[in-house]
Amino acid sequence: MARYTLMAVYAHPDDEAFGSGGTLAKYAAQGCDVYVVTATRGEAGQIAAPEIATPANLPDVRERELRCACQIYGVHSPIFMGYQDGQLTIVHQGQAVARLVRIIRELRPDVIITFGPDGIYGHYDHIAVHRWASIAFDLAADPDCFPELLRDTCQPHQVRKLYYRALTQAQITAMVSNGMPEAVMMDGVPFPFIPYRGDEITTIIDVSDWLEVKLAGIRCHATQLGHDNPFITMPEEVMQQPWLRTECYVLARSTVGWPQGTEIDLLERL
Ligand SMILES: [Zn+2]
Repeated sequence: MARYTLMAVYAHPDDEAFGSGGTLAKYAAQGCDVYVVTATRGEAGQIAAPEIATPANLPDVRERELRCACQIYGVHSPIFMGYQDGQLTIVHQGQAVARLVRIIRELRPDVIITFGPDGIYGHYDHIAVHRWASIAFDLAADPDCFPELLRDTCQPHQVRKLYYRALTQAQITAMVSNGMPEAVMMDGVPFPFIPYRGDEITTIIDVSDWLEVKLAGIRCHATQLGHDNPFITMPEEVMQQPWLRTECYVLARSTVGWPQGTEIDLLERL
């Protein structure tokens, strides 16, 4: 089997865990080169318990948490873009896209997964990363774009598929019925999870065989989980529920055609 390269582009340490930890582990186990690119070190995140981190060392602790999770998924060490959590909307967009184009041209992924325009729950940072990754997908292939980046191993590269991570209404309903909130609070404002319609989902990855790995990856992000968090106390009957065992995506760009019906593999048609 050809060796494929998969890259996830997210905003914060832990974004990779909840919706695509199983996917990352599955493709790493299949022998793919899997990379996680993260815009920030999660400086603005919560601290679930005072013994885990202080505001001063939170970015270092969250960097270690993501390194821990990547080791558990069996993927490469994470790549940090070095931006500040909560401030991605005021980052110079051209600079951020250039950084991603450089990473894409160097690592040459076949598939990129990132946020959709919904940002899962409208988080401004997620939406900024969605824009950067979608633009970089197009520009990395164009030799006229960022010509100063073209040298040695950094040649134009056409990624073949771009996927947006997506939640369905059924998944959100199941999450809520298992004690998870239906919205994420940011500065006192509730941002509800945004569902995709079932017919918008192009790709459903069954991660049943990697469920323990996915949960272990989530648990690396201890600063973001209280002791009573459902992901810590996960009872066996919840582990059997489909919302946890499947990860959904929308194929947004493709140079290799489109699925007939729902596909079950990010590498289909490659
Ligand atoms: Zn996030």
